Amino acid sequence: MRKIIIAIDGPAGSGKSTTARLVAESLGYTYLDTGAMYRAITLAMLNLGIDPSDENGAVRAARECRLSLENANGNSRVILNEVDVTDSIRSEEVTKYVSLVSSYKGVREIMVEKQREIGAHKGCVVDGRDIGTVVFPDADLKIYMVADIMERARRRQEELSIRGEDVSTAQVVDELNERDTKDSTRVASPLKKAPDAIEIDTTNMSIEEQVAKVLSFADEIMVTNGMVN
Ligand code: C5P
Repeated sequence: MRKIIIAIDGPAGSGKSTTARLVAESLGYTYLDTGAMYRAITLAMLNLGIDPSDENGAVRAARECRLSLENANGNSRVILNEVDVTDSIRSEEVTKYVSLVSSYKGVREIMVEKQREIGAHKGCVVDGRDIGTVVFPDADLKIYMVADIMERARRRQEELSIRGEDVSTAQVVDELNERDTKDSTRVASPLKKAPDAIEIDTTNMSIEEQVAKVLSFADEIMVTNGMVN
């Protein structure tokens, strides 16, 4: 009954994924991490020895790889050709090439089709860069998350250090800026705020506050639409 689509877009490190995952868990919804899909295609290319600048190779990899996202007990796993790649898609190498691979129109068409299939029955929280603008332009709730660059770098550095990768703050800032510039200036579905999206600045917010805020907007929409428990 209470099934809506919640789209969460924004630059890297703005808090989208964690918030989206917890909001989905709280509502009993599917969480769809579209960044993980683009990362998996990038990894598939690297594994096959295809140069990331080879657009046709990227489209072929996107078409031929078997990609599935599994949600179990609040954990989302990414399975590529029957192998669990949840951790390896977060490597520095994949991060370096993912914006190039995701700029290819042919790759995006294949990914967007899969994303729409997953969201077809609603009850879905989807995070990415083009969710409110292209993938689900009719999403019931659109959030655009932003945060100060230094705070985003701090979060990314923490993530990397948990993975055992020690990268300097300056390098993380450069990498985030470079990725955001590529993502927001590309021709195909660039990162941008949908006109009807609600902007949330997460710089000084805890994860709990971010989740509570999105849930309160979601509840408001469900009440307005007469959706009952
Ligand atoms: O969300 P995450 O940072 O893991 O996304 C990795 C990359 O995937 C982004 O920097 C962007 O290049 C690409 N992406 C995209 N469209 C989406 C989600 C991610 O182009 N909907």
